[in-house]
Amino acid sequence: MIRNDDIRARLGLRPVINVSGTMTSLGASIVVPQAVETVAAILSQWTEMSDLQRTASRTIARLTGAEAGCVTASCSAGITLAVAAAMTGSDLAAIERLPDATGLKDEVVIQAGHMVSYGAPVEQAIRLAGARVVPVGQATSAHAYQLEGAITEKTAAAVYVVSHHVVEYGQIPLANFIARAHSKGVPVIVDAASEYDLTGFIAAGADIALYSGHKFLGGPTSGIIAGAKGLVRAAHLQNRGIGRGMKIGKEGVAGVIAALEAWETRDHAGIRERERKALDLWVKTLAGRPGVTARIMPDPTDNPLDRLRVDIDPQAARITAWDLADRMAAGEPPVVVRDHEAEHNYFFLDPCNLHPDEEAIVARRLTEELDQAAAAAEPVVSSFAERAMRQEAGLLNWPD
Ligand SMILES: *Cc1c(COP(=O)(O)O)cnc(C)c1O
Repeated sequence: MIRNDDIRARLGLRPVINVSGTMTSLGASIVVPQAVETVAAILSQWTEMSDLQRTASRTIARLTGAEAGCVTASCSAGITLAVAAAMTGSDLAAIERLPDATGLKDEVVIQAGHMVSYGAPVEQAIRLAGARVVPVGQATSAHAYQLEGAITEKTAAAVYVVSHHVVEYGQIPLANFIARAHSKGVPVIVDAASEYDLTGFIAAGADIALYSGHKFLGGPTSGIIAGAKGLVRAAHLQNRGIGRGMKIGKEGVAGVIAALEAWETRDHAGIRERERKALDLWVKTLAGRPGVTARIMPDPTDNPLDRLRVDIDPQAARITAWDLADRMAAGEPPVVVRDHEAEHNYFFLDPCNLHPDEEAIVARRLTEELDQAAAAAEPVVSSFAERAMRQEAGLLNWPD
């Protein structure tokens, strides 16, 4: 299955097919050719980094409508640096003192329903700056008056997370969140890591909008900080302090610039059409299978992409959603589906990260596993609880 010129063979890696999304654990995304070329071209050259970041600032400003921008290691680093910026401003001595926040505004308000994990906790990225997290409301219910009530003279910033991870109802609408925070003089940092909308959050009044360079943009691993010039400058200056451990190399900055430029000229409609073809193929593949229901679903945060939701009735299909997911991932070649909600007996197939013709391999693997389960003497029904324990044990076993 794995081709001889596939770098993964040399590194002892499985030739995984990703229908789960832009996952850090799978290498984030397929980097676009323009970024690959740019990364390769700059690696062997001396580069004046503050000039390179100036170029990035201009590109980020052009694409987001913000005054300025800079690039850091990841969106997660962007959260930390934006919070630090709101705390220290351009005070270089304070920047060197962090995470000791003595004498600084050090409270950051965030809705409880936004305190999620993207692989690490949002609130930890805030605390890394030396800030204290002040939750607003309850997980499934928050109101603008609670936001206002949580703001004190020590409040440095308000963080708003836009993501399928957050609680999907009962949260303060962004416009109200920004209006209430601004009425108290508090800057708003929007974590829009995987949102395709590069202009909307700044246009809505966010002081900082954060994006991952390595998700939909197809850049190398990186974080984009866009926003008001004073705050972006203060975020960039954190490289003289806590930002040092989050530094990005010239290849990352140049690669993100190339990915942003490629985004401007990308054939978005053509890509959408290709993704639709994959979805249609999978719908056809699964049609008429006992216990399997496939539905094309829009993205929960309205990004211009659809996924296939595959619901499994374990009795009729003779396999659970999580067992099917695990067998796909263990198969030849490994196919990783989007199974965050598998305990409810469904998973998604995300068509956004496929190389040409891989959709057919996904279809074949689904057919093989479902045929096998249908023909097996016993239904394939493992304990979901034991699966969770097994996954935790596997995590703790690394590097063995
Ligand atoms: C992916 C993600 C992050 C983290 O982004 P990295 O660039 O991988 O650090 C933060 N917030 C949200 C909402 C995300 O989806």
